[in-house]
Amino acid sequence: MGIGFGLIGASSIARDTMIPAIRSHADCSIISVYSSDENRGRLFAAENNIPQVALSVDELLANPEIDAVYISTTNELHHRQTLAAAQAGKHVLCEKPLAMNLNESQQMIKACQRAGVVLATNHHLRMSAGIRKLRELIANGAIGTPLAASVFHAVYLPENLQGWRIDNPEAGGGVVLDIVVHDIDTLRFILAAEPVEVTSLSQRGGMATDDAVEDGNMAVFRFSNNLLAQIHTAFTIKYAGDGIEIHGSQGSLKLNNVLGRAKSEPIILTNADGEQLYDPEQYSLDDRTIKLFVDAIRGHSSPGATGEDGERSLAAALCCLESARSGRSITIEVQ
Ligand code: NDP
Repeated sequence: MGIGFGLIGASSIARDTMIPAIRSHADCSIISVYSSDENRGRLFAAENNIPQVALSVDELLANPEIDAVYISTTNELHHRQTLAAAQAGKHVLCEKPLAMNLNESQQMIKACQRAGVVLATNHHLRMSAGIRKLRELIANGAIGTPLAASVFHAVYLPENLQGWRIDNPEAGGGVVLDIVVHDIDTLRFILAAEPVEVTSLSQRGGMATDDAVEDGNMAVFRFSNNLLAQIHTAFTIKYAGDGIEIHGSQGSLKLNNVLGRAKSEPIILTNADGEQLYDPEQYSLDDRTIKLFVDAIRGHSSPGATGEDGERSLAAALCCLESARSGRSITIEVQ
């Protein structure tokens, strides 16, 4: 049985990344797209060779050819649209951040459970071969006890994306909900541990145009295995490059250029034996996301990142924001 996808959101990420990823699977097809603006929807469908345009979410969800939806609207809409999709019996691949708060994320998870549909969060970085190799090396004791991590993920937000992310707190703008969620998910995956506490400071470094939106943040998270992780995220930095370092009692791991979608550099493991390089195979992270989502729909496995994963990264990001606002260290709790 093929899987028919409906797109909720005529977004950049759908156009640039997820439409090609869905089409990379011979048994998946894109049936229809919904946009809140009819003209934009029609143009998007024409430009991306999508056969149908829906004029409302309900119209898209009533389409019997659609088995699953990919939701990539702005963040405040993910909750309502996921509930509607679950009600209509459609599987959901939802963009991060999963929702705006934990009440919403819990309702989304429960609604999908009740409806018997898959809920996946698009945390694509855990699909990366380099990230998966870091997880394997740490689980196999390559660095002894992991004690510290550093994630440097400061970017320059491209001009075409300098919209709601920098001027609209109601849509979930700001670098923390945009990027820290990914970094937390990635560390949870690598370490097989949960973030339990955070202290952070936010910055407005010249790009954000709303007082309530941060365009830079530095945070320190404590994880359940006692590891301390520092995370630097920004929309304003042009030449930093990105990477992850994990330091343990017996060794250190470094992986650069891994937090985008380009080929990463090889992993460097340094320990008492000297330096060793690992250069894992490269493949499309997004193709793998779709593969695991479709496998989950067919009951073969879990999606790459579940709704619960999306909720965990959201909880950590919300506490990061709360710490920056209050000047206090915040305990991260998920019920
Ligand atoms: P966009 O700004 O491109 O799209 C978001 C919404 O904005 C669209 O759904 C669309 O509304 C509206 N929109 C798009 N183009 C225009 C335009 N020219 N004029 C007016 N409105 C427009 O956002 P992104 O694609 O960057 O992000 C969408 C979601 O995906 C977010 O939740 C984000 O966090 C997530 N994301 C995830 C990534 C990942 O790696 N997992 C990477 C990038 C984004 P409508 O649909 O109603 O037409």
